[in-house]
Amino acid sequence: MGGINKQPNQLLQSREQSGKALTPYDARKRTIEKWLHRFCRETINKACENVYPKFKKYNIDFPEIRYRNMISRWGSCQPKRNILTFNYQLIEAPMFCIEYVVTHEFTHFLYPNHSKLFYQQLSMFSLPLVSINRIFSPRVILLI
Ligand SMILES: [Zn+2]
Repeated sequence: MGGINKQPNQLLQSREQSGKALTPYDARKRTIEKWLHRFCRETINKACENVYPKFKKYNIDFPEIRYRNMISRWGSCQPKRNILTFNYQLIEAPMFCIEYVVTHEFTHFLYPNHSKLFYQQLSMFSLPLVSINRIFSPRVILLI
């Protein structure tokens, strides 16, 4: 967490806390970010609903879905707390990549590691994707 993605928001927050008005650029950026985040949540929530039936038969409850900006991960799973967290930047990926990441994270409810068994199970749920990072990679979204 942190790093490049957090800095603009932190600057924005400190400007707000100091009582200074947002510049038109910052206000526009904030509006677009809010819309993009909402679109991301709606899209990934839908992907989770699409993927969930494959896992329901393993007595897995539908998890709490969280979102955040992450530098080096597309998602994470906390099996004991029944929480999946996804990177907002995943919204830039094609839908089949999003569903792959969602399936990967759901599979962690069965295997909370990256063992051979985990990948065997994942391959039963999802077509193999050699490396999602070859298709797209995280980057800072520059808004003009
Ligand atoms: Zn994993």
